[in-house]
Amino acid sequence: MTQIHIFIDGTWLFKVCSAGSALAYTTDSPTFPFYIDWNKFDLAIKQHAGEASGHELELGERVLATSIFALPEDFDDWSNRFLDITTEKIEKTKRVVFAKNRFAQAAVDAGYSEIAIFRPEIKSWIIPKLEDSSYQEKQVDTTVVALLVKSAITRPEDYHAVVTGDADMIPAIKTAYPEYTRNVLIISTHPDELDATRRQSSFSYFDFVFDLQPFFLQNNAENIMLGNNVYRCVECGKIFTTQNPVPVNRQPRCKNDRVS
Ligand SMILES: [Zn+2]
Repeated sequence: MTQIHIFIDGTWLFKVCSAGSALAYTTDSPTFPFYIDWNKFDLAIKQHAGEASGHELELGERVLATSIFALPEDFDDWSNRFLDITTEKIEKTKRVVFAKNRFAQAAVDAGYSEIAIFRPEIKSWIIPKLEDSSYQEKQVDTTVVALLVKSAITRPEDYHAVVTGDADMIPAIKTAYPEYTRNVLIISTHPDELDATRRQSSFSYFDFVFDLQPFFLQNNAENIMLGNNVYRCVECGKIFTTQNPVPVNRQPRCKNDRVS
C-alpha cells in the first residue's frame, strides 16, 4: 500500500507551538503553549495527503529532528563559575530543555523515530547566545533535508511530507530530488510565513511548484490539538478544550465569550 512518510523540523515546530506563537494564537489561551496530539496530527496529515493525491495512504516512516541540550550535573553552579551567566538564565535554560524534552517524548511515544534527536552538551558560551537568539543550530534542517531526500529516492511511489517553516530547504530538496513536485508535501504555518519577502530567507514557497496542496497547521489547529473535547468558538473562531463535552444543544463558546 502507498505510504506517507513524515519528516519534521522539530526545532521549528516546537517554536510555533510555544506560548505567544502562531499556533498558540489559534486558541483562546495564546499565552499558553499549544499542545499537539501526535496521533491526531498524523491522521490529519494522512487524510490531507490522501485527498490531495487521490490515494489511500498508510503511515510510513516518521522522524522528528531536533536538538536538545544535555545539561551537566553541576549546571546550577555555573552562575558562580561564569560572569555572564545568571541564576535566571540557568533556570530559563532548564525550563526550555524540560519543555523540549516533553515535546519530543510525546512524539516518540506516538511512534516517531529518535534517530534525529541530537543531544549536544551545552557550553558556557552558548547561554548568552540563547538569550539574544543568535545561537545557530545547524544540524537539524540539514538532517531533515537528508532524511526526506533519502526517503523520496528509495521510495519513489510513496509520499513524503516535510514539516518546516523554512522555504530555504526547498532548493536543496529540488537539487537532490528534481521529481519533488510529484510526491513531496509541505506542511507549515500560514503561507505568508513561507514567503521570502516577509522573512529572512532567500527563497519563497511560491517560487516552487507542488502537485499537492500544502497542509497549513493553523487551518487544522482543531484537528491536531491535544484534548478530548476540542471545539472552535462560534463567536471568535478560536480553538479551545473543555473538561466536559459541550452539551449537543449548546453552541461551543470559548472562555472569553461564555456568559454565565
Ligand atoms: Zn470565542
